[in-house]
Amino acid sequence: MKEACGVVAVSYPGREVSRLVFDALYALQHRGQESAGMASANHETVTVVKDMGLVSAVFNDRSLTALDGQQVIGHTRYSTQGDLGWHAAQPVFRSQGSFGFALAHNGNLTNTDVLAERAGMLPGLLLTDTDVVAELLAAAMESGQTLAGAMSTVLPLVEGAFCFVLVEEGRVHGIRDPHGFRPLCLGRFGGVDAPEGWALASESPALDVMGATFVREVAPGELVTIEGTTCSSTQLLTPAESTKLCIFEFVYFARPDAVLAGREVHGARRRTGELLARQSPVDADLVMGVPDSGVPAAEGYALASGIPFGQGLVKNRYIGRTFITPDQGARARGVRRKLNPLRENIFGKRLIVVDDSIVRGTTTRAIVTMLRDAGATEVHLRISSPPFRWPCFYGIDTPTRDELLASHRSIDEIRDFLGCDSIAYVALEDLVEAIGAPTAGFCDACLTGRYPTRVPLVVRGTTGAKA
Ligand code: SF4
Repeated sequence: MKEACGVVAVSYPGREVSRLVFDALYALQHRGQESAGMASANHETVTVVKDMGLVSAVFNDRSLTALDGQQVIGHTRYSTQGDLGWHAAQPVFRSQGSFGFALAHNGNLTNTDVLAERAGMLPGLLLTDTDVVAELLAAAMESGQTLAGAMSTVLPLVEGAFCFVLVEEGRVHGIRDPHGFRPLCLGRFGGVDAPEGWALASESPALDVMGATFVREVAPGELVTIEGTTCSSTQLLTPAESTKLCIFEFVYFARPDAVLAGREVHGARRRTGELLARQSPVDADLVMGVPDSGVPAAEGYALASGIPFGQGLVKNRYIGRTFITPDQGARARGVRRKLNPLRENIFGKRLIVVDDSIVRGTTTRAIVTMLRDAGATEVHLRISSPPFRWPCFYGIDTPTRDELLASHRSIDEIRDFLGCDSIAYVALEDLVEAIGAPTAGFCDACLTGRYPTRVPLVVRGTTGAKA
């Protein structure tokens, strides 16, 4: 699975804001490694710098100096709406008369076709859902509306998952969709009584790295506007009956040091491992996690089971995103490039291997083979999320339903396909309990097929979602 994109917005008068946003994007690099961009507003000019590649490759001293506004937004991207290369890099810019704004998006819209038709856009144009929203906002401003006014006209029409950040002369805005699929948090520079600036970011570590203090999470449907050092909030969109934060933010996407729904992600992962150990015990010599996001759950499994915890795989941390489309064979070779076994730790041992999820199963099968080749006598898989059975329409790049290992196989068939001695997945109720945020609500559509919004009507084998 590919992550969900990261967004940042900062207003901090008197500071070199683009350098702060650079650090924040660096902290959000895990959410998107395909392209990165920033837009700053200053003296009635909106400047956008964006390109394909990692944050460190896209920006340099010169470009950060050119982004000289006191209000800046930033974006890291993984594509979910087609592979449009540079054309899909964000932020996107639109002007209306002498007025310009830029927009960046984390999420995926589920009614893009309807919106594009409304915007009078020709089918087949090289455009993303974010472009369509920018077009609609610019069109609404043609009639003299402010950007905030245009948002109140356009955003109620938008369905699906979105955290938008926008920049215009003198202010930045951030808004979260009514279900709250993707995270967005607010931070403050300076003291409570005399704030010197404000920031919005997908995850709290991006605030930490900028030196901002975490204030709170943005509520579903809430619009936050930051003008200079003043932060204001409006409930622009009626929130859904219950929040639907993507449960995979806790399992896999978010950084372990992020705070979501009031809970630190690492703790949730460790507790999931503890519950998994109680739910699905097995006798073994060593508990190991698949790096990186399987490791905290493995720690928890070891703690609860009393079986020693150790490292069994070394991850090459310098593998970045390639633009070569992998076939199944290349994916299997890719595992070897990324992970290598620690033979001394593994040889002759009965292993419990904890991983966060199984999507196609190709990677997991390659890991099981690798561990057996390194001398493991037994390999018992424990998965810290329930079986992934349905595609995601809310900003995560998932394969078609037929490609999902668990969509049409029993547990025994999955075990046989992967070549392991046993396999167990954590139960959904245990995962929710482990997260430990009783007032939070979660999207679990890829596990249950219960989509919180309308999704495209498609048939099994193509995209495969329920209508
Ligand atoms: S369908 Fe799954 S991956 Fe997509 S938002 Fe919901 S929980 Fe997250």
